[in-house]
Amino acid sequence: MKYEKIRKTVLEAITEAVKEGLVKGTSGNIALRDDEEDIVAITPSGISYMGMKPEDIAIVDLKGNWLDGNFKPSSEVPMHLAVMNARPDVKATVHTHAMFATIMAMGNDNELKPITPPQCEFTPVGIVPFTMPGSNDVAQKVVEALGKEGRAVLIKNHGMFCCGKNMKAAMAATTYTEEMAITTYYAKLLGVYEPMPEEAEKAMKALIAADQAV
Ligand SMILES: [Zn+2]
Repeated sequence: MKYEKIRKTVLEAITEAVKEGLVKGTSGNIALRDDEEDIVAITPSGISYMGMKPEDIAIVDLKGNWLDGNFKPSSEVPMHLAVMNARPDVKATVHTHAMFATIMAMGNDNELKPITPPQCEFTPVGIVPFTMPGSNDVAQKVVEALGKEGRAVLIKNHGMFCCGKNMKAAMAATTYTEEMAITTYYAKLLGVYEPMPEEAEKAMKALIAADQAV
């Protein structure tokens, strides 16, 4: 099978996302870019992720042309490719409808702030207004909200989009963004919401950056 390694990495990531409850049914999609081959492996459209095989993962070029795979690529190809084309540092992208991120995406004053130190790696989290799924419009709005260094955005009435320099980093962004949404939701509900002080967030960001530079 062609592109076996990259397909297996995408399959493992979507399987983990299902196991962790970040993806339900056929919603959510994950993509990984191979710079040497100039291709992107992405989950297929409308197919259950349970029992999926590596050859079911679609292969597209960076313009979105479908090159290989048993099923057609995700309808959110434009969003994943727009981010990868705008951000050469991004190799992996994850879009999910994770429940708490979706809830927190609804309020304009629901900007996620870090509650625990590891979450500082993924802030600020942008909010993207609702735009039709699968459109170039939503793709452009996600690119704008991520900016040059963003790792995560919430998309109103839809879900979230996260990215990273590899699959592990993109999955971590997804897990911690959902964790931020869950902890923020419950803290606000209990009336005890108190995110980390901005100074501490800045210090944590510096520590994480220094650690990753090693
Ligand atoms: Zn979606």
